[in-house]
Amino acid sequence: MTQSGDSYETFFPAEAGIIADPYLYFQGDTWDTVLGFAVAAMPEEINGFGIVSLRDDKVWVDEILILAQQVSAIHASPDPVEIGNLMARMIEQGLDPARLLKLKWHSHVAMSVSPSVLDLETIEKSSGDWVISLIVNVHGEYSARLDVLKPYRLHPMPLEIRVVRTLPTDIADFCQREVAAKLTRSGWFRRRKSVQPHTNRTVISPAVDIVEPGKAE
Ligand SMILES: [Zn+2]
Repeated sequence: MTQSGDSYETFFPAEAGIIADPYLYFQGDTWDTVLGFAVAAMPEEINGFGIVSLRDDKVWVDEILILAQQVSAIHASPDPVEIGNLMARMIEQGLDPARLLKLKWHSHVAMSVSPSVLDLETIEKSSGDWVISLIVNVHGEYSARLDVLKPYRLHPMPLEIRVVRTLPTDIADFCQREVAAKLTRSGWFRRRKSVQPHTNRTVISPAVDIVEPGKAE
């Protein structure tokens, strides 16, 4: 394997067979962007890409984007010319275009997020050594999977999404005040000097929140 970061072995060097951590990590804003696109495109489907990277042995989705595309209520596919243009722009900016096509996502509007027969065919026709496929709907449901295509076709691996959020300062402060005022801690914890107040505002949650519930049909 000589290409830059494209091969499964290069991207997942620790395992070179199957990733140890079957999660796909998003910052809250990035995940909300996927769902926001799905809601905005209603009642049509929409599809797009995600730029992924491996950090701390975790697969992160760093950026979500869409290209010009033809859409209907049951199908959406990007314009191949637009894909070519985007890849050219990435190369100009010194980015590796191979990273772009590693996450493909689309919405099923308000329907089930199980892959359709066409979705499965699309995965098999993917270029590159591996691809992550994500399907969402406007209820905030999703299905995600990793397909390793080369050098060997491996059984698809289901991926669970983890959304890393930072609590807004005002909510975090409110909760801290309420807890300080209303909780009487047991003696063991009170005496235990090594337990520090929890100040980290990062929250990791499964992606099951409903977006724009009034708009779902
Ligand atoms: Zn589909």
